[in-house]
Amino acid sequence: MTASAIPYRKGLHEVARGVHAWLAPDGGWGLSNAGLIAGDGAALLVDTLFDLPMTREMLAAMAVVTERRPVRYAVNTHANGDHCFGNSLLSPGTVIHAGPHFDDDLHEVPPALLAQLMTAELGPVLGPYLRRNFGRYTFTDVPVRGADVTVTGPLTLDVGGRAVEILPLGPAHTRGDVVVWVPDTRTLFAGDLLFIGGTPMIWSGPPGNWIAACDRMLALDPVTVVPGHGPVTGPAGIRQVRDYLSFLLGYARSSLAAGRSWREAAAEVDLGPYAAWGESERTVANLYAAYRSLDPATAEISLLELLTAMAGADPG
Ligand SMILES: [Zn+2]
Repeated sequence: MTASAIPYRKGLHEVARGVHAWLAPDGGWGLSNAGLIAGDGAALLVDTLFDLPMTREMLAAMAVVTERRPVRYAVNTHANGDHCFGNSLLSPGTVIHAGPHFDDDLHEVPPALLAQLMTAELGPVLGPYLRRNFGRYTFTDVPVRGADVTVTGPLTLDVGGRAVEILPLGPAHTRGDVVVWVPDTRTLFAGDLLFIGGTPMIWSGPPGNWIAACDRMLALDPVTVVPGHGPVTGPAGIRQVRDYLSFLLGYARSSLAAGRSWREAAAEVDLGPYAAWGESERTVANLYAAYRSLDPATAEISLLELLTAMAGADPG
């Protein structure tokens, strides 16, 4: 099935034989996709969602598949909450796989911290920005469940007779990104190594490694690609993200050579074709990450300072 044949509508879509994507338009902050790969009498889930009500709704919709093919394995593509805060709803017998640093990163930004940020006094710019983007989710009383298996190299799981590969490609979006590859239908679940229609967000970097990750994904020669956010795509979607990252890195390089700080570079950036993508304020944080990768002397800032810088550039 070609990517364009799959409507970008909320819900469960069979994107290839026995391979399903859970889509959540419009793919903005916290609205992430997930996946379900069905084998004979077993299934593998790719990611849970940002809060328990959303994850419950998704798992209920998946019951048409999982009633006879229980979720034996789950994969968290990375530790951002919109891909794993629903983990506690999985059966205790489900074996959860994730990439390097997953549990550390999850405990660094747990649901309780986000709950706290929603009500904290953070000033006139950051407070409203966070509430506008995250206020609709429920972060209170969410049990945290980490990974059972840390995947540090390519790993193939047998999901009811079906081979499913977990490929660590980070650090890029976070310190421990993994993608899920279903070779028999050439379907790729890219997690947040792909944002389609929205601006990619570099929490970790380096961006050069993310570009290499795009090349690795293209080399798989996928037919159907499910991004972490946005509509189902194909190789063209991977190339778009790769092009944005190349643009970003090139711009950071020339700005640095011209003696501009990352904040100055962010204030002056002309995003060209990428200006139409959602969450364009992420480019501010991405320039910080690009500078950090190019110039070790770039001063480190806190998560709150980074969010404040983005909030100040939010088109609203
Ligand atoms: Zn995400």
